[in-house]
Amino acid sequence: MAYYVTTPIYYVNAEPHLGHAYTIVAVDVLARHMRQRGEEVFFLTGTDEHGEPVAQEADRLGMTPKELADKNAPRFRDMVARLDATNDFFIRTSDERHVEGVRRILQRVYDAGHVYLGTYEGWYCPRCADFKSGNEIGAGNRCPIHGIELDWQEEENYFFRLSAFQERLERLYAERGDFVMPVARYNEARSFIDGGLADISLTRSSLPWGVPVPWDERHVFYVWFDALLNYYTALTYARDGEDLAERFWPPTLHVMAKDILKFHAVIWPALLMAAGLEIPRRLFVHGYLLMDEAKMSKSLGNVIDPFQVIDLYGTDALRFYLLREIVFGGDGSVSPEGFEKRYTTELANEYGNLASRTLSMIARYRDGVVPVAAEAPTVASDLDGLAASVRERFDAVDITGALDEIWQRVRRLNQWVQEEAPWQLAKDPAAAARLDGVLYGLAEGLRIVSVLLEPFMPEKTEQLLGALGANDRSLDGARFRPDGRFDAIGELAPLFPRLEPAEPPAASPAAS
Ligand SMILES: [Zn+2]
Repeated sequence: MAYYVTTPIYYVNAEPHLGHAYTIVAVDVLARHMRQRGEEVFFLTGTDEHGEPVAQEADRLGMTPKELADKNAPRFRDMVARLDATNDFFIRTSDERHVEGVRRILQRVYDAGHVYLGTYEGWYCPRCADFKSGNEIGAGNRCPIHGIELDWQEEENYFFRLSAFQERLERLYAERGDFVMPVARYNEARSFIDGGLADISLTRSSLPWGVPVPWDERHVFYVWFDALLNYYTALTYARDGEDLAERFWPPTLHVMAKDILKFHAVIWPALLMAAGLEIPRRLFVHGYLLMDEAKMSKSLGNVIDPFQVIDLYGTDALRFYLLREIVFGGDGSVSPEGFEKRYTTELANEYGNLASRTLSMIARYRDGVVPVAAEAPTVASDLDGLAASVRERFDAVDITGALDEIWQRVRRLNQWVQEEAPWQLAKDPAAAARLDGVLYGLAEGLRIVSVLLEPFMPEKTEQLLGALGANDRSLDGARFRPDGRFDAIGELAPLFPRLEPAEPPAASPAAS
């Protein structure tokens, strides 16, 4: 089955930060898991390069918007690569092929009678690139998100007849209770629709930086329409000579943070209806990472900079922490102190230690060859059904829940080693068969949890599975085999080495 998953595209006027990394990592985990299931996956991310926020920032820096976009888009592309994301394409909305796609689709919307010329009057936030009304206007006519004063704007715009889609959107939400997840976000979108939809500006006439409107070149499209359509246009040109929309449209899942819910959950489906395109199957809206700046760490200071964490601890540790610490879908606090605690207690002590002690016992007691078990080790029952529950959790986009299911088994395996005490069995020649069973159970258990952890920590699990000589990375292969075979055990460096924190500089120079 085709599985098409997206992140939002990122404004090139901003620096890449932890919030961007969070969505990219989450979507990458979903994409990798689906590939383990044998699904045909397409994972899209990219940059949003048009609109007022980019034009203003370029102006401030004394460059053209295109120059700013060319300078900053690679930063996002680099971040995606450093996060080990397996995106199938990186779209830039200043790409001529995207621009042509936007013009073609919106011309169709115009031809179908969903657009008219009018005058817009209202409060506008240039940082949001959004007109504000009702409770979207903060005290003192300020943007509640940016805290800046809103501009009163009057200009000739083409309008999209959003109001004409009122009933169809109501029906969509009534028929599909999981169109938007989690349910709090579904309710938020639904109440926005129930409040009555007003027509919205489709074009701007005062801004030159955007996609020119084909039927009236004095206008450019309002950046949100241009941006949303990236999800479609990318498929039409990501592969030369192929229209991937035939295979991958509609999207299986759009993932985003809650600040852009209205555009994705209300305007986007209406626009697709107007264009005669199928609407996405599902939207998942995650929460915010709240920086707990009071919690300091010796090595990381008081804020989490994704690049610094990757430099010091590796990409996998960051990926793990982000999906372990905060329930995906809710808000949660992150801190350097919290990161280091998880790194030490869970990655180094629980998983890393399980891996190193398992491999070293097999080396010491059985010359590096995983023995055959005469009877099924008792731990097998703890691993029964794990792959199935992980699959179910992923189907519900419960990424944190999937990780927790796996982690419970990591802990169970550690507990089982203590119970079985193979170092005692090794002293008793009469317990040789029992020891074989324990070592086999540990190797097999470690293999299963590592295959299931691969979407979360692709680099470390690859090292470990390589050392175990386990080649099958499929979800189907992540079940307990009573008589599995392993290649000879290889070398494995510590997966999560303990880091000596950098000493803070001395308060005063030593006397000499
Ligand atoms: Zn704003």
